[in-house]
Parts: sequence; structure tokens; C-alpha cells
Amino acid sequence: MENCIFCKIIAGEIPSAKVYEDGEIVIFKDIAPLAKIHLLCVPKEHFAYLSELDDGRAAFLGRVLKKIAALAPTLGLADGYRLVINQGESAGQSVKHLHIHILGGETLSWEK
Ligand code: AMP
Repeated sequence: MENCIFCKIIAGEIPSAKVYEDGEIVIFKDIAPLAKIHLLCVPKEHFAYLSELDDGRAAFLGRVLKKIAALAPTLGLADGYRLVINQGESAGQSVKHLHIHILGGETLSWEK
């Protein structure tokens, strides 16, 4: 997708600190971390919103959650982590390419 910053990261056109990549997803460090560990898990297929899930993408997302759970210990997240998907502008979604925030590496507070 033209002019999508995450598509450019996936294509290697913009540098990122990648910590994991396979055929379906890439995981890289958030450039403005909100926790000691703040990663972004991004599907290689461009779609903007969680609200665009069809059955195929829902199955894909289930696989992605399973992968994150399996990878967590190798990402320094053995003690726990928080997953966040911002859906839409009022939730603060600034990049219109679906992504899962992975937060951890410390005890997290809970604020809206
Ligand atoms: P959201 O607000 O949910 O759309 O999250 C977008 C996230 O992308 C923010 O936490 C940004 O800090 C992060 N971000 C934006 N540009 C980059 C980049 N070039 N590399 C890494 N993270 C980025």
C-alpha cells in the first residue's frame, strides 16, 4: 500500500528494529516506547482496521495471537505482557495498517 509507513517497513524501505519475521508477520520495536519493552506486531497483508476482519483474517489473527504467546519468552516477556489494538481515531490509531502493540518488561499500570 502506497504511503503506508508499516508497508514501507515491511518492504525494508524504512529502517526498523525487527525482532521477528516470518511469512505472515513482522515484529519490530516501537519508535516511541510506552513501556520498557514495546513491540509492534504487524501483518504483512495491508488492511487498516480490526473492523475489516473477515473469516480468513479472523483465523489469521488467532494464529498471530498463538505466535505471540509462543514467542513471548524469547522477547523478554516471560513475566507477562499486554496486547493492545487501537481501532479508529478515538482510540488513538495513528497508523492505518492493523497492528498489535506488545507491552511489557516491567509492571504495567492500567490507565485509559
Ligand atoms: P497506533 O497509535 O495504535 O496507530 O500506533 C502506531 C505506533 O506506531 C505508535 O506507537 C508509534 O510510535 C509507532 N511508530 C510510528 N512510526 C514508527 C516507525 N517508523 N518505527 C517504529 N514504530 C513506529
